[in-house]
Amino acid sequence: VLRIDGVHKWFGDTPVLRGIDIEVARHEVVALIGASGSGKSTLLKTINLLEGVDDGQIHLGETDITDPRIDADSIRGRIGVVFQHYNLFPHMNVLNNVTLASRQVFGVKRAAAEKRGLELLERIGLADKAREYPDRLSGGQQQRVAIARAIATDPELLLLDEITSALDPQLVGEVLDLVHELKAGGSTILMATHEMSFARRVADRVVFLKGGKIIESGTPQQIFDAPREEETREFLSRLR
Ligand code: ATP
Ligand code: MG
Repeated sequence: VLRIDGVHKWFGDTPVLRGIDIEVARHEVVALIGASGSGKSTLLKTINLLEGVDDGQIHLGETDITDPRIDADSIRGRIGVVFQHYNLFPHMNVLNNVTLASRQVFGVKRAAAEKRGLELLERIGLADKAREYPDRLSGGQQQRVAIARAIATDPELLLLDEITSALDPQLVGEVLDLVHELKAGGSTILMATHEMSFARRVADRVVFLKGGKIIESGTPQQIFDAPREEETREFLSRLR
């Protein structure tokens, strides 16, 4: 689904991504871990075309999305994104938040979009909140709605950037459970996370970034229980 080849990115004189290669296969869940500033969010932004790359290629399916002639909106329409801070539209109720993209980007008729939107809300246990505005929901509920919105258009790829790090600890579980269900449903996911227990539970593969480089990647078991690189061991030991 996704292939990142030799991606480099600088902010001014500062290298932020230094030759990143990652492949994400269909139905695969890949977790990016690494210290603050290691380049996780920047990498996700290059895939969503919020940041350009200075070198290398990114393919989504067969499409080279780093080709400057690409239509950014059509690429973004194929990717679902959820960020750390709930980015629901505050002036729209929950159902309209969830159905907006399918109606506006894909031209789905209101009735059909709402039927599907209500099904999604049902699935995440928030059907009774369909007509509420986001500020009446808890952080965990808002983040679940943001996830429902991201999957409403059946994207080929989901990008999740620290989707639990702004939540109160007791709300983290409900959001992680939902991601676990998405995985079970066959979603393809690339996510940045600080929740190592979650990466261990949900990821097929874990990629450890440091200073914009991949130090090591492998199964959760290999990375967390038997890291090969000293830098990985050091990073993990500081979390404990
Ligand atoms: P965190 O775990 O804190 O979210 P991260 O791994 O997501 O960190 P990034 O946000 O990708 O890290 O940042 C990587 C580096 O790029 C940092 O040194 C950051 O200061 C720098 N950076 C990010 N965005 C910009 C920008 N728009 N302009 C200049 N520098 C930036
Ligand atoms: Mg980040």
